Amino acid sequence: TSKVVTIGEIVVEIMAVHPGDGFREPIELIGPFPSGAPAIFIDQLARQGHPCAMVSCVGDDDFGWLNIERLRKDGVDVSAIRVHEDAVTGSAFVRYRESGDRDFVFNIRHSANGHIGLTPEARAVIAAAGHLHVMGSSLSSPAIIEAVLFALDEIKGRGGTVSFDPNIRKEMLGFPEMRAALDLVLAGTDLFLPSGDELLLFADAPDEAAALAQLLGRGLKAIVLKHGSAGARYVSADEDISAPGFRVTEVDPTGAGDCFGATFVAGWLAGRDPAEALLRANAAGALAVTKKGPMEGVSSTDQLDDFIASAEPVA
Ligand code: ATP
Repeated sequence: TSKVVTIGEIVVEIMAVHPGDGFREPIELIGPFPSGAPAIFIDQLARQGHPCAMVSCVGDDDFGWLNIERLRKDGVDVSAIRVHEDAVTGSAFVRYRESGDRDFVFNIRHSANGHIGLTPEARAVIAAAGHLHVMGSSLSSPAIIEAVLFALDEIKGRGGTVSFDPNIRKEMLGFPEMRAALDLVLAGTDLFLPSGDELLLFADAPDEAAALAQLLGRGLKAIVLKHGSAGARYVSADEDISAPGFRVTEVDPTGAGDCFGATFVAGWLAGRDPAEALLRANAAGALAVTKKGPMEGVSSTDQLDDFIASAEPVA
């Protein structure tokens, strides 16, 4: 099995206990929870028993060590997670409104994540990897973009593969270098994992069917469309498979896409049948939303087996 590497942000998430508007008064909070989309992805991949490493940077503080210890315990190679003496670990404060919208206070751009780059340790894990997973949301600084594009060229040059989850929030496209980087990553992607809405941002096409045809025509091996609680769809040149989601009670939606993606990538790299990989990924996404905290809903292969054996797919 080829070792997977991902490059991107580590943060802690601190959540408001009660819904309401913003943080302009003292409120009850819970956390810190380990977080960051690529961190959740790589933790879930490790829980599938797949060899993997993360390139990132944290401060020499409790929030950083909380994340490193958690990833290490779950089996991630943390040798390329730099601990920076003069920087602070990233954080995100989140509060839900009654409407379901969220208010955030972020400390990410000016956190230790701003020091992610091609250290000797990063080059070493990239040299040992056979697969790169890219989170679009991580392409937020010139140094991360440089590291991701370097890893992409290196790994593809050796005959390795690339998966890409755009994971875009609209406010991010304000960073002009990001749009160009997303397109460069897509050009090197084998397995593309957008949500239904994101697909059309990457194709010059009027609808989903035309967009899928166009992207497959450009050389992508497969596209997996995430449809939230409705499940997911796998499309390649010769297969088109839809799989319903599982019925669960949603407690916290953060991390579902990352757990889904990691489980699908693990199945795909292990040569599982796409229908089986899709079923397991849907199960992982469903389990992810049942726990409060972005990384608290990760699941091992045994937990997925038990859940699938007892769960009820939505008709
Ligand atoms: P994220 O909010 O993590 O960025 P995303 O937009 O990338 O998520 P979603 O489509 O929201 O991805 O979720 C990914 C997968 O998780 C879905 O395809 C589905 O399998 C599962 N999932 C998400 N929400 C639910 C839910 N409420 N009930 C059951 N399964 C869910």
